[in-house]
Amino acid sequence: MIKLERVRTTDAVYGGLRGRYLKDKERQLLTSVKDSAGNPEFKSHWRKAADQLKKETADKCGYCESPIERGDVDHFRPKARYWWLVYCYDNFIFSCPVCNQEYKSDNFPIRREKYKGPVVFSGLEPHELENLIGTFAPDPLDPDAVKSFHALCCDEDPLLLNPYVEDPEPLFKWVCDEILMEVEIQAADNLDELRRQRFEAVAKYYGLNREHLRKRRFDTFESWKYKQSYAISFQKMKGDAFAENRVRDLLHDVLPPSLFNDLPFNDIDRCIDTAIDYFKGRMEQMRAADQPYAAMVRSLAVD
Ligand SMILES: [Zn+2]
Repeated sequence: MIKLERVRTTDAVYGGLRGRYLKDKERQLLTSVKDSAGNPEFKSHWRKAADQLKKETADKCGYCESPIERGDVDHFRPKARYWWLVYCYDNFIFSCPVCNQEYKSDNFPIRREKYKGPVVFSGLEPHELENLIGTFAPDPLDPDAVKSFHALCCDEDPLLLNPYVEDPEPLFKWVCDEILMEVEIQAADNLDELRRQRFEAVAKYYGLNREHLRKRRFDTFESWKYKQSYAISFQKMKGDAFAENRVRDLLHDVLPPSLFNDLPFNDIDRCIDTAIDYFKGRMEQMRAADQPYAAMVRSLAVD
């Protein structure tokens, strides 16, 4: 998991979930709660936000960082428990179906009291219902409303972590088992008791140590190690006159032809520097936010 940034522009945020269209949906929702004795019918308007949310996670799951073609718009606070946040844009995270449906599901552990949603009952007068509109899900383009909403959410002291709100990386460390060929996620060293509890909840309810994920992380880890091992090998070959022929063969084998063909072979140290820069550049690329398992890669030292 890495920190995500929500893009709050009229182009980015689906028009049907802001401004007066959001209010219309809230009116329908409140009416549905009122008429159904608390069992409202949800319309899946949240799906319209999927393309933008997917861009914000760079085509990865917002929880496990696996690359995905198609995913879910997860309700961070589950709609089964927080019905009033069903159309709340700030409650949406793009997620893979495994994290969302098999692990997180309707779980949402909190350490304090659950915050109260709007009180809706069958005898609610139309003007009372109208007064509730706009009070429980912030307009995503209204920064003050968004800020108040997140303050209210914070009061619950949730154990799960919303990557749009908090930076998840300090909670984790990554432990590679080269025999089992997998990378497990563990609590970072020196976490206090509360942060340790949060780590446990995040690992459990996002399923961050499921076998498939441990193996896929290892593939990424190996790809990084491969680049690192070449960077180190070339470094060792610098200034070694006896290695010159070997260097040339190796450069031919591991560099892309376009780079190899432009090497200045009259200066072998410069060729080696080019190769080292190439592999370090590739390692650096793997740390970028749009790359799979970037949080794990960022925990690996480049030098
Ligand atoms: Zn996932």
